[in-house]
Amino acid sequence: MQYDKILADAKSERDWIVDVRRRIHRRPEIGFDLVETNRLVTNVLGELQVEHRSGIAETGVVATIGSGDGPCVALRADMDALPMQEEADVDFRSEIDGRMHACGHDCHTAMLLGAAKLLKGREADLPGTVKLIFQPAEEGGAGGDRMCQEGALESPKVDRIFGLHVWPYLPTGSVAGRSGPLLAAAGELEITVHGRGGHAAMPHACIDPVVTSAKIILELQTIVSREIDPLESGVVSITQTHGGSASNVIPPSVQLRGTVRSLTMDGFRFLQKRVTEIATAVAEVNGCTAEVTFPGHDYPPVVNDEGLWEFARGVAGEIVGSEAVEEMPPVMGGEDFAFYTQQVPGCFAVVGVGNPEKGTGHGLHHPKFVVDEDGLPYGTALHVAFALGSLETAD
Ligand SMILES: [Zn+2]
Ligand SMILES: [Zn+2]
Repeated sequence: MQYDKILADAKSERDWIVDVRRRIHRRPEIGFDLVETNRLVTNVLGELQVEHRSGIAETGVVATIGSGDGPCVALRADMDALPMQEEADVDFRSEIDGRMHACGHDCHTAMLLGAAKLLKGREADLPGTVKLIFQPAEEGGAGGDRMCQEGALESPKVDRIFGLHVWPYLPTGSVAGRSGPLLAAAGELEITVHGRGGHAAMPHACIDPVVTSAKIILELQTIVSREIDPLESGVVSITQTHGGSASNVIPPSVQLRGTVRSLTMDGFRFLQKRVTEIATAVAEVNGCTAEVTFPGHDYPPVVNDEGLWEFARGVAGEIVGSEAVEEMPPVMGGEDFAFYTQQVPGCFAVVGVGNPEKGTGHGLHHPKFVVDEDGLPYGTALHVAFALGSLETAD
């Protein structure tokens, strides 16, 4: 396999990729409701004469390039933005108040469209099929799960899948990943503590859910510190407390919200079980009751297939130089790429877009998040190389 021309080809498309990325960046959309983004993606695929199906998981798109049958390698990009106000000082800033591409999914979509362009130029030589999966609702909506349920991995059947995330914490031109768990199983938690409200001057006539919720918050801290093996990882964070409307009123209830994370599904279920037991018991001894729920979609951990990470590391080394490919420790963030890796062997990796001179010091989900757009052709090149290398080595 000749990998050396791939990066040069991707770099020659740099302005095209960046233009696509900025068009998406200006018009961020949330969840499954990606009407404009879907239109842009399908228009670009149409211009490239790439066969595609739209309307999978509402606004998802699956494109195919190659022979139409196996072997089949899939490349995945997410397309959704976040409900937050952009504060980045860029001239292609979000035109929609309260919405921002702060996780780089605009970059992911543009990098994969760049790969579509390059792969289309090599279509006649492809010994199999490359499937390009553009999915909605990565940020909490489990769009990847819906894509799988609605057949994104079928006809032709996907043998392996790759995903990339832009990573402002690593310099442009570098790549990182690991074998095994890379990102955490993650889910939300919600606890409503019910007491009995009344006059704040007569606490004895009330059952105070504020004090009880404070005790629950503190007691939850011992799950990770006292019940989990120190060499394993877990997160239980209470991130929101809501209750009360006046300084002289004890409210009837208090609501707590937060997140639970672990690198294994067993660990994740254990944390959920202990949160429920502790909140319920602490509430009870204080005369309150606690309703504990885990709303939203629980994301499984992203677990990289060992052989595929070995493969991806080798291929990435051919593209960026082996000295620019790193093993990274797991991160407790969640990623719904996990749903694909539950179905087929997969590998998720991160691609550097960090460059202090371009103000990329703000992390993902920050209102001032910016990327070094010179990193995007690397993402495109990696997608192409993962696809070509996979089809070449398939039996
Ligand atoms: Zn995100
Ligand atoms: Zn993301």
